[in-house]
Amino acid sequence: MCGIVALFNVLKAAELTAVGLHIIQHRAREYAGIVASDGDELYVKHGKGLVWQAFKDAETLDLLHGRSALGHIRYSTSSDVGDKHADAQPLVGTYQGKRFALAHNGNITNVDELSKLVPAKRIKTGMDTEYVLRLLEMENSGDIERDLRKVLPKLKGSVTIAILLPDKLVVVVDGSANRPLTIGTIDDGYVVASETCAITNIGGTVVKDVPAGSIVTFDSNGCRITTYAKENAKKCCFEHIYYANPASVVWNVPVQDFRRRMGALLQLYCPADADVVTAVPDSAIDIAEGYGSSGRSGVYERLILRSHTVGRTFIASTQARRDIEAARKFIMVGHRIAGKRIVVVDDSIVRGTTLKQIVGKLRELGAREVHVRSGSPAIIGACRYGIDTQGKELVRAHMSEEELCKEIGADSIGYLPIEALRSLYKDPDDYCFACMNLNYWD
Ligand code: AMP
Repeated sequence: MCGIVALFNVLKAAELTAVGLHIIQHRAREYAGIVASDGDELYVKHGKGLVWQAFKDAETLDLLHGRSALGHIRYSTSSDVGDKHADAQPLVGTYQGKRFALAHNGNITNVDELSKLVPAKRIKTGMDTEYVLRLLEMENSGDIERDLRKVLPKLKGSVTIAILLPDKLVVVVDGSANRPLTIGTIDDGYVVASETCAITNIGGTVVKDVPAGSIVTFDSNGCRITTYAKENAKKCCFEHIYYANPASVVWNVPVQDFRRRMGALLQLYCPADADVVTAVPDSAIDIAEGYGSSGRSGVYERLILRSHTVGRTFIASTQARRDIEAARKFIMVGHRIAGKRIVVVDDSIVRGTTLKQIVGKLRELGAREVHVRSGSPAIIGACRYGIDTQGKELVRAHMSEEELCKEIGADSIGYLPIEALRSLYKDPDDYCFACMNLNYWD
């Protein structure tokens, strides 16, 4: 998964882009990159790790001149090259003899087809995104919107792109609108970001989401939105369940409210005879609060805290490492656990690593019963559209609910049914639930 922040015609564009990226750092933490433009030249800087590691020296940002900037944070879902610096974004290419930069959030699913259109020697990284850059370079007409209209129909999958040229910023959301991208204003200019919390927390005002199937151009004439593809919305429900920051409003749905409603519904579908409801922090906090809100299955209490120096454990590359990271990540409020019947709510169960650890710790500390509840329906299929789940690691792809309950040592387990999740949306048919119902669309 990735995150994008871009600014056009704003003082201190690179600095604000860095702050914006930091605010959405939960989306990715492998690489960070910012490209700035002074209207004529592009200035480029990439680094490994967190935004604040990559841009720790004030001097680094001082070198990114100009009133426009495009920033990207990356957690790889397409590259097999892994550790190479070349795999950071925004990617930089040449258009009309000048540099231009491109950043992508999502996943292109027809790289095989694209590789027949681009000579192999032009490809320098392991990223699907590079094909878009090279195809635009090959068009090179000087009219970027026209070239995009030629290139974009060749791409399948989830395509949310931002492009910085010396004198303009262009963003694209494909017909699926699978990943969010929102437009805002800031001072006399514009901001575009993967999540609204990045806009509002750098002093911007949210205006609207980039509509499905459209190209938006920001230049000296202001902002222009044109349609290039029919809307066939397949918005990722996982943005609401887990990915997005609760401070964001994603596709006009406030994430925090959505998670509370998920939790309340989960309690109705999967009640428990319990004293306390607690969350796997941080992502399940709102869901657990919702679950506890009626008081019918226990009262919400924070029994599990998390170490903020340990990142998202899911991202660790081996199971041994994930076990260690999960063990380091959670801090139990030990004196409030003994003798209690506890409901532990997580937003989702992927491998089961987190809950196995937590159930074990709660039992060691004397919990009388431990009931596990998942805000997400069972995840049984890989995500092809940008979330890093491959399929074979998914515990529910090869284990029943009862087997998993036994495996993690819980007294009971319950998932929000997919129909209940769908009922939380005004427009459920506009959402992608492929990892839960295997209805892949591209
Ligand atoms: P696991 O421990 O493997 O069952 O993973 C579940 C935990 O990972 C949950 O606490 C989620 O908050 C988190 N999670 C779920 N999906 C993802 C994802 N795609 N990337 C990172 N973390 C995730």
